Amino acid sequence: MTGGKEREKLLMGPGPSNVHPRVLASLASPMIGHLDPDFLEVMNEVRDLLRLVFQTENRLTLAMSGTGSAGMETCLVNLIEPGDRVLVAVEGYFGERMVEMASRCGADLTVLRVPWGEVLDPAAVETALRRGGHRLLAVVHGETSAGVLQPVEELAAIAHRHGALLVVDAAATLGGVPVLVDEWGIDACYSGSQKCLGCPPGLAPLSFSEAASRRLAERREPVRSWYLDLSLLQSYWGRDRFYHHTAPVSMLFALREALRMVAEEGLEERFRRHRENARALAAGLEAMGLELFVPETHRLATLTAVRVPAGVDGEVVRLGMMREHRIDMGAGLGELKGRVWRIGLMGMGASRRNVLFFLKSLEEVLRRQGFELPEGDGVRRADEAYATAPGGRLRVEGQTS
Ligand SMILES: *Cc1c(COP(=O)(O)O)cnc(C)c1O
Repeated sequence: MTGGKEREKLLMGPGPSNVHPRVLASLASPMIGHLDPDFLEVMNEVRDLLRLVFQTENRLTLAMSGTGSAGMETCLVNLIEPGDRVLVAVEGYFGERMVEMASRCGADLTVLRVPWGEVLDPAAVETALRRGGHRLLAVVHGETSAGVLQPVEELAAIAHRHGALLVVDAAATLGGVPVLVDEWGIDACYSGSQKCLGCPPGLAPLSFSEAASRRLAERREPVRSWYLDLSLLQSYWGRDRFYHHTAPVSMLFALREALRMVAEEGLEERFRRHRENARALAAGLEAMGLELFVPETHRLATLTAVRVPAGVDGEVVRLGMMREHRIDMGAGLGELKGRVWRIGLMGMGASRRNVLFFLKSLEEVLRRQGFELPEGDGVRRADEAYATAPGGRLRVEGQTS
């Protein structure tokens, strides 16, 4: 007997995103040993391709076994020693998760919070660091709970000026919007395989700068987590190939294939595609009389938060989208529960066809909920946005589903 076959759905939430058949097919490759020379080649290629997407030369670049949160925990547990002063700058749910993890690492914590939907003011970060002694600044680049893109370029310079390393969560941005690890001066950066990279969940790409590697090498005590200890893992991924744990072989096949597809499309083209589709989605939603949660200046292209209008039950709409159109859109998380929908356009999901189908479906479901809206305006306005996008509408785009 074979396993049940799931029917395809359109994944338009905060991840996982839809996975291309080429990547799915790679998961069915025959099993090989994780120390087989052929598999070492796979790991090498994954590492090289990760350097490309992180835009870094960092030697310590690899994919952690585990989801994005394992990437987060790896950065924090390797770079924090009990008693270290750490500043976490929080713009939403995942920032709070960093606070929780840093606290479990025994950090002497300072937390700087802005209301969800807003970005951090670099001057406020600098003021907090000026109190002195901080060893680490941690921040989320694309906060999927609120749909905010936090600029991190300036934060790196500020952190370094005060002797702190910068940790950046690029779970929802890597492969979707620019993440320039070297140019921006990020010291530790992690992501998740299942968002803009277009791979199933299960791996956490990660990169450490030379300064972060040095911090790791100079620790006074061993890393408190054995499994996430990068000093052990780098000899597994490095030349020594020292056995640490059994790598999730199939997942690494999948990540390699997904990263190859990113490289074939080209980073710039991929960023343009995410940006353009997000812009069209936003135009369509606004034309339907819906209100976006975040102003355009710091809106995250890969995830759009839109307010649930008064008189509409957000969950009923979400279930309607799922049952009638097989669209899985995201609900509000944490303090935005019930107040917003979160619409993801990640990886191959960022396509014109998905945006237009989504808007048309949402219009139908909303109308049935008694929400009055002008017929067809969402799709029409989104279409206009494509037509006026830099580069025009004639560009060939990646197919979906
Ligand atoms: C998805 C996500 C994570 C990691 O989540 P996992 O569910 O563990 O993969 C971390 N940070 C942000 C901003 C995310 O969107």
